Parts: sequence; structure tokens; C-alpha cells
Amino acid sequence: MDPQQIFCHNPACPARGKVGRGNIGVHSRKQNRYICHECKRTFTQSKGTVFYRLRYSCEIVTQVVTLLAYGCPLQAIVAAFDIDERTVASWQQRAGEHCQQVHQHLVHHPRDLGQVQADEIRVKYQGGIAWVALAIAVPTRLWIAGMVSSCRDGALIRRLIQ
Ligand SMILES: [Zn+2]
Repeated sequence: MDPQQIFCHNPACPARGKVGRGNIGVHSRKQNRYICHECKRTFTQSKGTVFYRLRYSCEIVTQVVTLLAYGCPLQAIVAAFDIDERTVASWQQRAGEHCQQVHQHLVHHPRDLGQVQADEIRVKYQGGIAWVALAIAVPTRLWIAGMVSSCRDGALIRRLIQ
């Protein structure tokens, strides 16, 4: 348990969402609970994660969600782990919603992109050619934009930059 990596989830707390301020302490190692010294609320280690209030261990849930992500059939997971189909479906839903929140926090947040690499490729298709321009943020390998045009010109690059 590392209180320096944890933040308070209480919406009414002035220290909500702030990591490393020193306001979080260990409340109970046995129950995996932290305490916020700012608002005096305690909360479990899994608060704000996919594992919050689940009856199964983090390891089992992680294994099941990983198998789902790699395309393992739901019926195979139900047979192998002896877990109800609706439970597995709810874990998948929770994991997807959590990933969406993480994605929105990390990707949709406006930030300095650093170095951006842009390039275009010529694509042949039946009856013609097209130019596809792509832009990628170098530090994160995040695909930022893509444009398609019938000709390779300044207008294609300007639209890509926009
Ligand atoms: Zn708090």
C-alpha cells in the first residue's frame, strides 16, 4: 500500500483527485483501506477502479478481461472459470467504461503534442489512386489525424495540420 500514489475520491473534499499531497494515509492494512486526513473519509484500495466492490480477486477479473480483449469466447470463459455469464458481461462493461474514462483523461485532454510526424502514401484502388496523409505524435505514437485526397497538394497537408 503506497499512499503517495492514491488520491481522495470524495467530491466534497478540497484535495479530491490530487496525488502526492501527503493527505492520504493507511487506515487499515488488513482491510486495504486508506484515509484522507483532509476530509477524514476512509476508502478502500480498489475505489475508482474496475475491481471496486467485486467478490472476485483482482487476478481473476484481470485474467477474464484480458481473455475477452484477445477475443476468447464468452462461453469458454464461463466454462473455464465457472463464473456466471452475466457476471463476465458486467466485468467487460465495467472494464470498457473504465478504459473510456482513462482514454478521455489521457487522450482527449488538450496537451503539448511534442514532435509530430506527418507523411503521405499513395494508395492504388480499382480505377484510380488516392493520397492518404497521416500525422502521428512521436513521443506517444498516438495517431492524431488522417486525410484522404485524390491529389497530393498543399490543400491535403493544410487539412491534415488543421
Ligand atoms: Zn478527502
